[in-house]
Amino acid sequence: MAEDKEKRLKLISEIQRTVEQMKVDDIEEQPYAASELFQCPCCGEFKPLAGSLLYNANLYCNDCVLLTEVSLALGKITYPDEMIEYMEDKRFEAIYEGLFSFEENLNN
Ligand SMILES: [Zn+2]
Repeated sequence: MAEDKEKRLKLISEIQRTVEQMKVDDIEEQPYAASELFQCPCCGEFKPLAGSLLYNANLYCNDCVLLTEVSLALGKITYPDEMIEYMEDKRFEAIYEGLFSFEENLNN
C-alpha cells in the first residue's frame, strides 16, 4: 500500500510539473497570456489564459487543468467534462462572490 501511495505521489508531482511547464511555455510564446483573463467554465473564476487547455469545447484554466489531469490519472473521473460537475459548488461560490463584489462596487 505504501508503495502505491508513493507511486501516486510521484505521478501527481509529474503532472504538476508538466502543467506548470505549459503555463511557462505559454507566457514565453505569448507574454500577454499572463495578464489576459477569461472566465473558466470549470471553477467559474477569472484566470489568466496562460497554461489553459481546451477539453472538447471547454477552455479550462491552469488550476483546473491540473485538477483534471490528476483526477484522470487517478481514475477519479473518466472524461474531462466530469470535472465541471465536480466543481459545481465551487463555481457557484465564485459566481456568487463575483456578484456580491459587483454590487459592492456599485454602492461605493
Ligand atoms: Zn478553472
